[in-house]
Amino acid sequence: MAAVNFAREEGLRPTMRGGAHGVAGHAVCDNGLMIDLSLMNSVTVDPAARVARVGPGAVLGDMDAATQKHGLATTGGVDSRTGVAGLTLGGGMGWLARSFGLALDNLIALEVVTADGQHRSASNDENPDLFWALRGGGGRFGVVTAFEFQLHKVGPEVAMAQVFHPGSDAAGALRFFRDYMAKAPDQVGAGAMVMTVPPVEPFPEDHHGKTAVALVGCYSGAMEEGMQVLQGIREYGNPILDVLTPIPYADLQQSFDQATPEGARYYWKSQYLSELSDEAIDTLVTHMESLPGPFTTIAFECMGGAISRVDPAETAFPHRKAPFNFGVWAGWAEPEYDDIAIGWTRKLHEAMTPYSTGGVYANYLDHDDSDKMKAAFGENHDRLQAIKKKYDPYGLFRIGGS
Ligand SMILES: Cc1cc2nc3c(=O)[nH]c(=O)nc-3n(C[C@H](O)[C@H](O)[C@H](O)COP(=O)(O)OP(=O)(O)OC[C@H]3O[C@@H](n4cnc5c(N)ncnc54)[C@H](O)[C@@H]3O)c2cc1C
Repeated sequence: MAAVNFAREEGLRPTMRGGAHGVAGHAVCDNGLMIDLSLMNSVTVDPAARVARVGPGAVLGDMDAATQKHGLATTGGVDSRTGVAGLTLGGGMGWLARSFGLALDNLIALEVVTADGQHRSASNDENPDLFWALRGGGGRFGVVTAFEFQLHKVGPEVAMAQVFHPGSDAAGALRFFRDYMAKAPDQVGAGAMVMTVPPVEPFPEDHHGKTAVALVGCYSGAMEEGMQVLQGIREYGNPILDVLTPIPYADLQQSFDQATPEGARYYWKSQYLSELSDEAIDTLVTHMESLPGPFTTIAFECMGGAISRVDPAETAFPHRKAPFNFGVWAGWAEPEYDDIAIGWTRKLHEAMTPYSTGGVYANYLDHDDSDKMKAAFGENHDRLQAIKKKYDPYGLFRIGGS
């Protein structure tokens, strides 16, 4: 069977291409200036050196298209419309992260215009403090005008599994997923997602509109090996739909684009979990019965692997040891539903907080999370503040905290 596209309703299609979008519009502010870099979207690949030079206006789809021509890739996110710039400066978690680290771990060098108007290079050799801060500290240190990434051999096809369990078996499916991932090799990039079954084929009709748990994994290595390893993610319960297939890596990278259509309303909360305990799973299950809105997802993003082998102080991104990131991503259509959807999201997020590391992913902060800077930058917070003072003493770049 062909891979399932994560569209939530028939007819809904993303309208945005070639422009970046953040969870909460962090690139936009009142009484300030927004610099539109979307025309600077070139991607140049040196296949021999396995290096890509990427403009700040490129989206992940631009980067994947250019690098996959050479059978190469680096870690991105799971939605091809996301800007390379914002995603990388804050972290960059995607299917390849357990193999090759976060997007920011693959940075070789950056070019930046800092608050004093200077165009600087940042790498381990030039302005290393700025290079450190930009890898995880976000857009607070200047306008990045070029990214240089290390690439890896990936694809052009990778193995992918998508297994959908009924919501009634969520507790069992999530326990199984946790145990599978505890033994999975780094090449497995995976996530578990609670979602509403869309009213489309190939989902069985009697499950349309009901809650389901999707276990999704891909393997960034040899195809035969990947098909074998991912067979393991299917060995549980009675799924309502179950797919194991080779898929072009570039297609995998677009398979979630339709899960969050343009024009809908969104509210996100997330936190890293220290473990996926039985108690955490049971807490989730008591809250997940009716998801507010067709575009709502509750997600467990698997970390570990190469992400966890980088020292928390090596880059500004400190959350190296958490095995899972837990996200409550509510999406709905009608403004009059705002209070219900936002209230539901906050309630579930709070119920899961006892299982959290206390840390939060800077790239998933919503508009009301400005008090979470310490949680986002953890032990690296004070060093980031000092570097901010050096490169932007008057706080020219203010969005997302200074
Ligand atoms: C649908 C969706 C799916 C997502 N999936 C993932 C995922 O799989 N993995 C993941 O890690 N994250 C994911 N994210 C989160 C994503 O990483 C953040 O939203 C990120 O901020 C997006 O960056 P952007 O460039 O698209 O957004 P923007 O809003 O343009 O920028 C975000 C921030 O970065 C700053 N910035 C942008 N460009 C530059 C630059 N050139 N120089 C300096 N600062 C700059 C902006 O000022 C702003 O503060 C997802 C978000 C959405 C909405």
